[in-house]
Amino acid sequence: MSLAQQFGSDNYAGICPEAWAAMQEANQGHAPAYGDDAWTTAAADAFRALFETDCEVFFTFNGTAANSLALASLCQSFHSVICSEIAHIETDECGAPEFFSNGSKLILVPARNGKLDAAGVRAAATRRDDLHFPKPRVVSITQATENGTLYRLAEIAAIGDVCRSLGLHLHMDGARFANACANLNCTPAEMTWRAGVDVLCFGGTKNGMAIGEAVVFFRKELARDFEFRCKQAGQLASKMRFLAAPWVGVLQDDAWLRHARHANACARRLAQALEGVSGIRQLFPVEANGVFIDFPPDALAALRARGWRFYTFIGEGGARFMCAWDTEPERVDALAADIRAVMAERSATPALVAGA
Ligand SMILES: *Cc1c(COP(=O)(O)O)cnc(C)c1O
Repeated sequence: MSLAQQFGSDNYAGICPEAWAAMQEANQGHAPAYGDDAWTTAAADAFRALFETDCEVFFTFNGTAANSLALASLCQSFHSVICSEIAHIETDECGAPEFFSNGSKLILVPARNGKLDAAGVRAAATRRDDLHFPKPRVVSITQATENGTLYRLAEIAAIGDVCRSLGLHLHMDGARFANACANLNCTPAEMTWRAGVDVLCFGGTKNGMAIGEAVVFFRKELARDFEFRCKQAGQLASKMRFLAAPWVGVLQDDAWLRHARHANACARRLAQALEGVSGIRQLFPVEANGVFIDFPPDALAALRARGWRFYTFIGEGGARFMCAWDTEPERVDALAADIRAVMAERSATPALVAGA
C-alpha cells in the first residue's frame, strides 16, 4: 500500500517515532474527556516551558481551523486581516478565515519571496481609515513562508513594531514553525512574543504528527472563550489526550527540532544537487524544507512520467518539492538524478528546446 517516498508535500510522511510512542503510552486505561486529562495539561505545560512564558494553548485538528479560529478571535466581522497575497489563509483555506470571523476581509499585500515587510504593512494598514472600508485589525505572517523562505528576527520585530504603533494584532501561521526555528537558530520565544507576535499557530502535522496543530496565545486576554469557538467549529476533540500526547512526545528532548533540521538539510541537499543544471531555475532561497523550481512545461511532464509527484500551484508557481522528517537522502539523490536526466534528454532534442 505504501508509496516510495515522494516530495509532493511534507504531509505525505507518516508519524515520527516520538509522536507514535506517546500515542501508545496515552492509550492505557481511561482518562477524562475534552481536555480534562493529564496529557493535555502536560502538553500545554510543555509549550509554556518551550516559550518561556505563561501562554494559553489549545489543540485543533488542522491548520486551517487553527488559523481561522485564531483570526476570528482577534477580529470582529467588520475588521480586516493584512496578509501576503500568497498566504495559506488566502489561497488554501477555502475562505475559512472569512467564514469563521463572519466576514473579516483579507487585505492582500504583494510579497517578495513570500514575505511582507514593515513598510508594506504600514501602507496597507493606513491606506484607508474611513468607515466604508473594513478596519485593519490583524497582520498575519507565515513562518516559514509558503515559498520556503524565512523572516529574520529583525523583520518580524519591525512588523511587530508597526502593529503596536497602529493597534494591530500580529498572528503567525507556523505550519512550519519548527523548520524556521531549526534554521534560524533562535529560541521559540525570540521568534514570537519577544518580537511582537500575539498568537501563533504551531504546526504539528508537517513536523511528524498524525494530526494536530496548537494555537498559542501569548496574551491571555485574547484567548478568552476560545474553547467555545473550538467547540462550535467542531474542533474540540473528545478524546483530547490523543491530540495532546504527541506534542508531549515531540517537544521532549528537542525531537521537533531534530526532525525539522533533518527536513531542512534534505531540502538543501536537493538544491545543491541541482545547482548548475541548465534550463531550470531555483525560484527562492532554500531556507526551510522546500525547494521551488521553474521548469519548462515539457520537463514537468517528463518528470511526472518518471513517477514523481509534486505540486505546481503553491505560492507563485513552479514545481515545489518538500522534504519531511523522514526523507531519505537516497530519494533526494534519485530525484536530483532524474531531474538532471530529464533536462539532459531535453537539451539533446533541439526541437523541444526551440519550441518550449
Ligand atoms: C499546511 C499548511 C497549513 C495547514 O493546513 P491544513 O491542511 O489545514 O492542516 C497552514 N498554513 C500553511 C502555510 C501550510 O503550509
